[in-house]
Amino acid sequence: MDKIGETTLEIDLSALEHNFKYLKSKLHPETKFLAVVKAFAYGSDMVAIAQKMESLDVDYFAVAYVKEGLLLREAGITTPILVLHPQPVNFSELIDHCLEPSLYSSNILKQFLEVARHKKQNDYPVHVKFNTGLNRLGFWENDVDHIVQQLDGRSEIKIKSIFSHLAASEDPLEKEFSQNQIATFEKISTALNSKLGYVPFRHMLNTSGIINYPEAQFEMVRSGIGLYGYGNSAEEDKNLKPVASLKTIISQLHKIEPGETVGYNRAFASDGHRVTATLPLGHADGVGRQYGNGKGSVVIHGKKAPIVGNVCMDMIMVDVTDINCKEGDEVLVFGANSSAEEFATTANTISYEILTAISQRVKRVIKPQ
Ligand SMILES: *Cc1c(COP(=O)(O)O)cnc(C)c1O
Repeated sequence: MDKIGETTLEIDLSALEHNFKYLKSKLHPETKFLAVVKAFAYGSDMVAIAQKMESLDVDYFAVAYVKEGLLLREAGITTPILVLHPQPVNFSELIDHCLEPSLYSSNILKQFLEVARHKKQNDYPVHVKFNTGLNRLGFWENDVDHIVQQLDGRSEIKIKSIFSHLAASEDPLEKEFSQNQIATFEKISTALNSKLGYVPFRHMLNTSGIINYPEAQFEMVRSGIGLYGYGNSAEEDKNLKPVASLKTIISQLHKIEPGETVGYNRAFASDGHRVTATLPLGHADGVGRQYGNGKGSVVIHGKKAPIVGNVCMDMIMVDVTDINCKEGDEVLVFGANSSAEEFATTANTISYEILTAISQRVKRVIKPQ
C-alpha cells in the first residue's frame, strides 16, 4: 500500500467477510443474519460496510436512528433496515424510505399507527421490542394483551418480528440471568402468537449471544462488534480479524533535555534525554484525554511508543527515545496485531467506545484487496 500521508482509518473488507463467515459458522444455515451498522458501522464506513454485507447476502441491517437509515438508502442499499430507536418526529420520513421501526412502548406504537394511517399504509412492517431485563427499551411481558388490543381492527401495520436484547451476554457469571431473559422471551412469543393469529419471526442474540447462547438464535441474530473483529473475550478475538486500523504519521521529532516539559500544562517532565514524536491525531479525532500521560501507546516500527503528556485537540506526543524512526514514518494506533480492545483497555474502556469515537475528520480508506 502507498504511504498513507495523513491520519487514516483503513478498512479491511476481507476481514469483514472473514468475521461474517466465522459468526455464521456458529449458526444453523437457515438462521437469518442482521448486520448492525449503526454509528457509521461502529466508526468505520457505513456505506462501504453495508455494500460489502449486501454483496454477501446479509438478510437485514440495523441502525439506531432514521438519519442513519437514510444514508444507506441514498447509497442504494435495498436490504431491509431495522431502525432500533426511531424518534416519532422522523416516522414520516422513515416510511418514505421503507425503513422498519422498532416499536417499544404503547405510546410509540400509537404514534406510529397514527402516521401510518395518515400515510395510508397497509401491513407496514414493524418490529416489536420486549424488555426482558436490560430495562432500557421495550414492552413488558404483561403488555402482550394491550398490544393485541391496540392492533385490533387496524390494518396499517403488521408485526414482522419481535425481539429482545440480552443485558450481559458476554459475562459467564450472568448465565442464569441471560437464560431467564431467553425463557421470558419465549413465553412472550408464545403468548403473542396465540393472540395475534400470525407468527412474527424472532431475534435476541448480539455477537456475544451468538457465541455463548447459540441455542437461542431463533430465526435471526443481530451482530455488530463481531463483524468488526471483536468478540468481547481474548479467546474469541483470536477467531476474528479487526476491520478498522487507525494509522497516522510522525509530523516532527523533538529532542527533550533533562528537566524540560512536553505539552499543555507541562504535564510531562523529562528526567533525562528523550526523543518525542508529534502525531497529527488528537481528542478531536477520537483519542480522548484519558489516553494521555502514559496510559495509551502507539506502535512505530513494531515497537510501543507511550503517549506523553496531555492529549491535545489535534495532536499527541509519543516517546520514541528507543525507536529508530524519522519524520513521515507510519504509526499504528490500533488495528491488526494491536487491537482496539487492547488500546481501549489502557483507558479503562471497551473496543466499542474507541471504534465509534473516531471522528468524521479522519479519512477513511478501503484497503485494496
Ligand atoms: C447495538 C446492538 C446490537 C449489536 O450488539 P453487538 O454486541 O455489537 O453485537 C444488537 N442489538 C441491539 C438491540 C443493539 O442495540
